[in-house]
Amino acid sequence: MKPSLREESVPRTLESGSQAREYRLIESQLRRRGLWLALPEPLETQFCTSHDAMASAAYSSTIIWALGLFLMVGASVLFTVNTDQLGIWPATYSVFLIFILGGWLLSFSEQVRAQYQKYITALAGLCVFYAVLHPSLLTEGPLRTLIHQGTVFVVLLVYLGINLRFKFALLAGTVSGMLAYPVMWLFDLPMNWDMSIATFLGGSGLGALLRYRDERRTRKLFLQSRLLELDNERIQQLADELERLSFLDGLTGLANRRYFDRMFEKAWRTGIREMHPLSLVMLDVDFFKRYNDHYGHQNGDQCLQEIARAISFVTARPQDLAARYGGEEFVLLFPHTDNLAARHLTSRILEKVRAMEMAHAVSDCADYVTVSAGIATVMPSPDLGMDALLSAADRALYRAKEQGRDRWVSSETLL
Ligand code: GH3
Ligand code: MG
Ligand code: MG
Repeated sequence: MKPSLREESVPRTLESGSQAREYRLIESQLRRRGLWLALPEPLETQFCTSHDAMASAAYSSTIIWALGLFLMVGASVLFTVNTDQLGIWPATYSVFLIFILGGWLLSFSEQVRAQYQKYITALAGLCVFYAVLHPSLLTEGPLRTLIHQGTVFVVLLVYLGINLRFKFALLAGTVSGMLAYPVMWLFDLPMNWDMSIATFLGGSGLGALLRYRDERRTRKLFLQSRLLELDNERIQQLADELERLSFLDGLTGLANRRYFDRMFEKAWRTGIREMHPLSLVMLDVDFFKRYNDHYGHQNGDQCLQEIARAISFVTARPQDLAARYGGEEFVLLFPHTDNLAARHLTSRILEKVRAMEMAHAVSDCADYVTVSAGIATVMPSPDLGMDALLSAADRALYRAKEQGRDRWVSSETLL
């Protein structure tokens, strides 16, 4: 049967298959052991999207951190090393400031925000590459030792400060730094292996470990919050479904009286606002008590279901509403519908019921089940009560019964 609760209708499925699948997938991931970080799709994409959005939102504050570290290391050099030993250091050290400025400028770009991991990995990788190379540009001495130690700050900042996902952090924090060694070898730059291993490799090892641990935790939190989200979606769907069912007539599948009352009020208010006619039809099965007595209550129920089907067939427009008013009475609401159109629609329903040819051996008006209808149309206005329309339709129905049933009568009083 065509659904009758068209207005304010809600989804009928309680839980989609994909939702259930995602739920099971998340639960299995939360139970999973092992070192592998990546999640199966679509979770991985969801995680990356939410993680990158968070990372790019937090990025601006990293610039401040980077600048703070730059100043701190710079100040410690100036305090500990004699000015005549600085050599080209002010120039080589300023390159970091260029990286920081570059990072700051990148923070304004929409494209960088959209492709955060790609761009920031490239910049951070370049910075680490230079940080590993940097000590080799300076002459041997306490300054170089200090600068070697500064590399640790750079690497830790890259691993822990800019929210790169683990594999990107590994590229930027370790792989790119290692590329500095062949360059030093190629250009025959002096290098201190012990110092480099202790600072760069030590720092990046620690950074990678902490980054990995942090990302495992973040991923777990993501899964748990996604589970909560799915739970909430499910609760919302259940609530919607419950509400829909509470407006449904169990026997006929049409709207129930409660829903009709609600929509009638709404249609009345809309009618006043938009100054459109509102038609209402009361339908009643003829000699239905006899039908029940003759064919039994169960057949009576089936008969009501068939009539509801005929009604649904005709009340096709989205704004029309057909409801079971009670017992064997139905009510139809036709907003934006004048009396002529309402008469036409009602005739079609009556015809449709007749055409179903449901035998009614004990009816005085036909050999088949028939219905009678009362129609009333009004231009809703604040001066009128809604009940006036209902009772006009009811009176018209009474007249249809009086005049012999199996017909409609339209109320003239409110036209
Ligand atoms: P009229 O032509 O004047 O409408 O006569 P009627 O017999 O249809 O009217 P009446 O109001 O006397 O009887 C209505 C009957 O509808 C009484 C009741 O047995 C039956 N009825 C009401 N609700 C249901 C229902 O849910 N299922 C069934 N099978 N019968 C119902
Ligand atoms: Mg009745
Ligand atoms: Mg009846």
